[in-house]
Amino acid sequence: MNDKILIPSSVKVISFDADDTLWENEPLFLDAEALWADVLSPYGTKEELSARLFEVESANMEDFGYGAKAFTLSLIQSALEISGGKVSSEDLVRILSAGRRILHNPASPIEGVAETLETIRRSGRYFLVLMTKGDLLDQQHKLQRSALGKYFDRVEIVSGKTEKEYSSLLSSLEVPPSAFLSVGNSFRSDIAPVLQMGGWGVYVPFRVTWEHEKVEEYPHDRLFQVDKIGDILPLLGL
Ligand SMILES: [Mg+2]
Repeated sequence: MNDKILIPSSVKVISFDADDTLWENEPLFLDAEALWADVLSPYGTKEELSARLFEVESANMEDFGYGAKAFTLSLIQSALEISGGKVSSEDLVRILSAGRRILHNPASPIEGVAETLETIRRSGRYFLVLMTKGDLLDQQHKLQRSALGKYFDRVEIVSGKTEKEYSSLLSSLEVPPSAFLSVGNSFRSDIAPVLQMGGWGVYVPFRVTWEHEKVEEYPHDRLFQVDKIGDILPLLGL
């Protein structure tokens, strides 16, 4: 990764991912999965169950998209399939409640996030975008609970984060990819498509990564990797 050159002043727009970049998210999904795996423990090892769940989630993605509601439906569907319909209605209610708990994510900002956004905002040098995928209502609620909304000039809640969504954001902002920097914890969604288009990336890995977001990572001249979000500031010369 490039750790010498600062991000050039030609960058005018910074887009932040939300889940596991601004606030914790994946750990709540893992908690729900742990309860689900407990219910289904007579039917397989944790690894076997987890692999089955991931298959169901992936197959459901086209219809249900990303987020807590899609995940809850996949938990219920896979519980019924794995148990051959033997899972009790009480256990289904428990699984449903575990899924619903994800929707009550406190979305407290990760340490250093508010201060970092505040500093970038105060510099007056950048147009700040929050770009996230998932359930519209859930993402809106989390943004509200996080109290981070005031730092952003624009919020985009999209159904996917591929070149298509980034291109339409860039054309609506009328900026070239070279003026665009994406910050996030997913190499697959937040970094790779933006590098591909000619933009810049700051990769901030989180301690856990959803299976679906795992992808081969590679170094790039327009990519920086940092341990924590506050480490972006020196790269921006702030
Ligand atoms: Mg994320």
